[in-house]
Amino acid sequence: MSQSDKVKVSEAEAMEVAEASREKSWRKPSFLRDLFLGDFRLDLIHPYPLPPSEEEERPEFRAFYNAFHEFLRTEVDSVEIDATGEYPEHVVDGLRKLGAFGMKIPKEYGGLGFNQTEYQKIMHLLGSCDGNLSALLSAHQSIGVPQPLKLFGSDELKKKYLPRCAAGEISAFALTETQVGSDPARLLTSAVRTEDGDYVINGEKLWCTNGTIADLLVVMARDPESKKISAFVVEADWPGVKVEHRCHFMGLRALANAVISFTDVRVPAENLIGEEGKGLKIALTTLNDGRLSIPNGAVGSAKICLEICRKWANERVQWGKPVGKHEAIAHKISDMAAYTYAMEAIADLATQMADSGRYDIRLEAAACKEWNTERGWHIVDETMQIRGGRGYETEKSLAARGEEPIGVERMMRDYRINRIFEGSSEIMHLFMAREAVDKHLQVAGSIIDPRKSWEEKATDFVQKMVPFYAAWYPTRWFGWSFYPRYQEFGRLGGHLRFVERNTRKLAREVFHGMVVHGPKLQNKQAFLFRLVDVANELFAMAASVSRAKALKDARRPEAAKAEELADAFCRMSRRRIRQLFRDLWSNDDVRKYKLALRVLDGKHTWMERGILNVDASARQMKPDTVFGQAPERAPVDRPVGTH
Ligand SMILES: Cc1cc2nc3c(=O)[nH]c(=O)nc-3n(C[C@H](O)[C@H](O)[C@H](O)COP(=O)(O)OP(=O)(O)OC[C@H]3O[C@@H](n4cnc5c(N)ncnc54)[C@H](O)[C@@H]3O)c2cc1C
Repeated sequence: MSQSDKVKVSEAEAMEVAEASREKSWRKPSFLRDLFLGDFRLDLIHPYPLPPSEEEERPEFRAFYNAFHEFLRTEVDSVEIDATGEYPEHVVDGLRKLGAFGMKIPKEYGGLGFNQTEYQKIMHLLGSCDGNLSALLSAHQSIGVPQPLKLFGSDELKKKYLPRCAAGEISAFALTETQVGSDPARLLTSAVRTEDGDYVINGEKLWCTNGTIADLLVVMARDPESKKISAFVVEADWPGVKVEHRCHFMGLRALANAVISFTDVRVPAENLIGEEGKGLKIALTTLNDGRLSIPNGAVGSAKICLEICRKWANERVQWGKPVGKHEAIAHKISDMAAYTYAMEAIADLATQMADSGRYDIRLEAAACKEWNTERGWHIVDETMQIRGGRGYETEKSLAARGEEPIGVERMMRDYRINRIFEGSSEIMHLFMAREAVDKHLQVAGSIIDPRKSWEEKATDFVQKMVPFYAAWYPTRWFGWSFYPRYQEFGRLGGHLRFVERNTRKLAREVFHGMVVHGPKLQNKQAFLFRLVDVANELFAMAASVSRAKALKDARRPEAAKAEELADAFCRMSRRRIRQLFRDLWSNDDVRKYKLALRVLDGKHTWMERGILNVDASARQMKPDTVFGQAPERAPVDRPVGTH
């Protein structure tokens, strides 16, 4: 029986589960939500909230930052952590002593009480040097026990567990199962209520980061009858909790990642986080803020790439001049600098917005996660290209030959997962696309809903659609977005005028998509994803310009340089946005989808001739097991495809 046969969940049922866990109300303003509706709310991001400079930071935080920096420099050997695939005890203990496991935990519970801005400065720093430590600390406090407890836990739960987390008991987050990746509807782990009100959990979780060393787990499990998913704090040493397997990956080699089984694990009623049945909503809300760690880390990674490339492209001479002065490489470097600036602009902005508490940042956090991880990956890849053969060589090998041990290959291995976990790039697009059409579904949803009768459709058409669109649609065409509007932004004002004009265009195209594709729009991912890409580019442009202006107004010494980078980034972005709009209506989407269906159907297996195919490679890898039977749960060290 194939994995997908084990639980039958239709597309509609999967969508229902996702809808049920979706936060439907917007109680606070959201820049991106308004952008999708054609309103460019510059007032929400301008004046840009610059994070405090070193001198303006709380002395307590600066002292921690400096100590942490020194600890990384003197105590952490990232090459060795990667090579051994283990976190050295003295490093984990050192982190405990520093209080790093309690950065985000309020002081009243023994933590350091950092706000998002402070915590993200640490993630930014870690992103530049050690993916393994980033994952350890971030899985613990961005998604592990502290964050959902802070947001949803009862006072008793907070008092019981937060001090333990702050003192360095490590926590993990367990949602994924073999059949549950992006789609939680297939969740099998069960939580059955006992007569005395406790719960009994049974099931198995996959890829639980920190799982092999965790003391505490957040576990998502569902009531087999109501099918509702709840979140629980489970202690790793309770009877019935067992680490079945440690998983190993392409990068993040020290990740203490586990398959964990739960056999009749009795969980006291008070360990339920929030309300019963609200588990997925809790997980999603936790991720609204939690999701900011990866894009902030990505900024750190981009910056170290920029430094590596700047130095190498100056130093390395080929064909009579430094490689950085050959146009092909020069362009890579200028793109890298401009993208790094824009990545920091949106990450800092979303982080500051989260701290202010005045905004709903669920879309901005998703945009940052998607945009920064994708741009960051491109930057890491270009860094390898610029370093050439040395980019592909390991740090140890470089050092053994007497060259500077610069670990681009390690960074590439460690970085790649950022596009997959905590919401893959595709899922971030889907999440944003759903919100892009939300208002239209509210107003015109019944027209395209096959379950509604003709009378209901007619009533909604007259009472809802006509009044809304009669006022809304024409105003998505008009508005003064030409000079002298935004002239106070100097040479960057033109970019804001572009953003405003194209915000209206974006809203029109969302609407046109609904009119042209009707109910089929939800399956038109290529169309929807382009709209999301436009929104993300507009967001990055607006944030970049607003940041440059704030630096200028604050008379920061880097202001003129920021303006140069913002201008370079906006020019690139404008070209991309124009292309994305063009591709909306002139593309090969249908043809490509049909071809994919034929490929999936095996019609093009002739293209796979002449290779040692996947089954053969896997069989070659496990000579002692009978192929077709469930493999032993022993770590398998040789990767598939190595011949
Ligand atoms: C190193 C590592 C650490 C992890 N840590 C944790 C952890 O601590 N806790 C935890 O619970 N989980 C963890 N995960 C799981 C991680 O969050 C999942 O890998 C992720 O959610 C994607 O699920 P999947 O890999 O099963 O991919 P799938 O969901 O099977 O998706 C496969 C591909 O299809 C795409 N896709 C899926 N659905 C759609 C759709 N509707 N439209 C378009 N594209 C789609 C995906 O983007 C992906 O590219 C970890 C995974 C790894 C590899």
